[in-house]
Amino acid sequence: MARYTGPVCRLCRAEGKKLMLKGDRCRSDKCAINRKRPAPGKDPKGRAGKRSDYGVQLREKQKLRRIYGMQERQFNLFFQRALRMAGITGENLFVLLERRLDNVVYRLRFAASRSQARQIVLHGHVRVNGRRVNVPSYLVKQEDEIEIREGSKNLVVIKEALKEFGKSGVMPWLHLDPDAMKGKFLVSPRRSDITDLADIKEQMIVEYYSK
Ligand code: SF4
Repeated sequence: MARYTGPVCRLCRAEGKKLMLKGDRCRSDKCAINRKRPAPGKDPKGRAGKRSDYGVQLREKQKLRRIYGMQERQFNLFFQRALRMAGITGENLFVLLERRLDNVVYRLRFAASRSQARQIVLHGHVRVNGRRVNVPSYLVKQEDEIEIREGSKNLVVIKEALKEFGKSGVMPWLHLDPDAMKGKFLVSPRRSDITDLADIKEQMIVEYYSK
């Protein structure tokens, strides 16, 4: 499946938000958003036309899709699944996205970014409940144990990423034993738990797909 291979900071500039696509650089002063670089193609005199409702909904969907590093088709499948679940569709979508194995690997600080987490999973460095799983979209369940495979524990990229744990810990629905490079998905998060994405308006995404 074709993946976006262009400059990722450009995506953040287009959305006007830090999408955290580049690991450590995203937390540094080098980040294009921190440096207040304008959106690509933006009128230098600041004249911007008013966005239609559809345009606003589209941007919100693109933002969330890019944060989780997904292709259009797969994001659409996740949305359709969220729609079939009981409860509020927008919240269901967030829960499903958070359960993706590449996202859990990122949230457990085994990777500096979701794209790096995806590579770590694809290369077979991760085990779920003792079994190797190399599918980034695999959905982790409550009480699942996620660990770095014994033979991969010396990988510099994982050790470096884990240092971040010491600074900010992990999200409350996860437990991490950094020395064992092992974590647990304690429970599915509620929408309100996902505080780093609090500004995403999921209702707009629901409206986008209901057209
Ligand atoms: Fe986005 Fe990270 Fe680039 Fe900043 S450094 S613009 S957050 S990808």
